[in-house]
Amino acid sequence: MTPARIALLLAVLLPPALLAQPGTGPDWTKLEAETMQHYQAVLRIDTRNPPGNETVLVEYLKQVLDKEGIPAQLVGSDPKRSNLVARLKGNGSKRPLLIMGHSDTVTTDDAKWKFPPLSATRDGGYIYGRGTVDDKDNLTAALMTMLLLKRLNVPLARDVIFVSEAGEEGSSGIGIGYLVRDQFPLIDAEYCIAEGGGIVRIGGAVKYATVQTLEKIPRGIELVSRGISGHGSVPLKSNAIVHLAAAVARVGEWRPEVRFNETTGSYFRKLATVSPPEVAKIYRDVLSSDPKVQRAADDWLLENEPRHSSMLRTSVSPNIFNGGYRSNVIPSEAKATLDVRALPDEDPAKFLEQVKRVVNDPAVDVRFTGQNERPATAPPRLDSDVYKALEAAGTHVYNTITLPTMSTGATDMAQLRAKGVQCYGIGSATDFEDPPKGFGAHSDQERILESELHRFVRYNWEVVTAVAGAR
Ligand SMILES: [Zn+2]
Repeated sequence: MTPARIALLLAVLLPPALLAQPGTGPDWTKLEAETMQHYQAVLRIDTRNPPGNETVLVEYLKQVLDKEGIPAQLVGSDPKRSNLVARLKGNGSKRPLLIMGHSDTVTTDDAKWKFPPLSATRDGGYIYGRGTVDDKDNLTAALMTMLLLKRLNVPLARDVIFVSEAGEEGSSGIGIGYLVRDQFPLIDAEYCIAEGGGIVRIGGAVKYATVQTLEKIPRGIELVSRGISGHGSVPLKSNAIVHLAAAVARVGEWRPEVRFNETTGSYFRKLATVSPPEVAKIYRDVLSSDPKVQRAADDWLLENEPRHSSMLRTSVSPNIFNGGYRSNVIPSEAKATLDVRALPDEDPAKFLEQVKRVVNDPAVDVRFTGQNERPATAPPRLDSDVYKALEAAGTHVYNTITLPTMSTGATDMAQLRAKGVQCYGIGSATDFEDPPKGFGAHSDQERILESELHRFVRYNWEVVTAVAGAR
């Protein structure tokens, strides 16, 4: 029998979603109902954190995976807050790919919701619910990819590991912290894909895709000012509050030097190509080697796009100021805490010296707090198999360009990157206009376009099969 006749016969015998003909892949239209069923099911399970109760959700996932014959296990340090790890075996010629989503969500103020936050209501082309874009979209897309890989019996060059992670929203010790510390052999991989990027739609049209390849590192600094205590009726030159206030003001005005890495340089260059002319000029100017041109663009960003300003440098924001306890007592000590978000290649000791020079006051002690620190990690590769696959899927599925980005905040990928796993943050397409209207991640309400949920499943599938498929 010719291959064409076999294909024809199979097409008659098997439902389309089960077809494994090279080049045809899954039947996406047929798959939509199943995607929606799992998506609504996980949205309706209450995993608002605190308290999380993620075990209920991963028990659902496990039962779905069990039915398909995909080995999965629940692991965790708290029985109510389990993680799930499932694995499809490859031929071992390449190291594993980890695909990850978190099962918990932030809490809700139910009175603010038009549709109850756990209802997963479909209305006007949207699905409403807590977790719709953070992060039950990633979770569902990864689940669907696992189901398809198994059903279509896709030959794999590497194992594909699926992790449903608990506690991402502020209790990562029971999630990624636990997995990396106590179960690392279960999740050890060459590459990881998790939340952190996204597809940006403006005016209803896709403008660009972002992939998070890098993140800044939180390094808190404390300023402690010491003086002589005394009666408030007799002002002293050594007043600790006066010294601290002046030090905080100097640090607050200071703008550490602008420095680009491969990710941020590429980000601003590419962003300029998809931005209106006036803003595109700013993005090009900030990369200029002329300090005056760069400074003007830097000023504009600080005023108008502070997140972009933070991407240019190690940033410092004084966020706590403590001193004094009675109006008639001059205190002997006052303390301020600076939220420092360091560029990944920043030398902490040298940076601390710079802060001391800016403070320039021997009465004020400058030191790291040592709290909430995350490990510094190796620079990412923008020429890796995964990055190339993400670019290709961005073109093929969304017909758009891909920008690598550095997030100013920290993510759970930091722990994996510190273990040598190359991580890339992705996300479904959302309208740029939605968060200001109160429909974004962590907003009063949260929603996703149904069409974008389904498109995101396809994007996942294309990336995973390109990276893990055996050719
Ligand atoms: Zn999230």
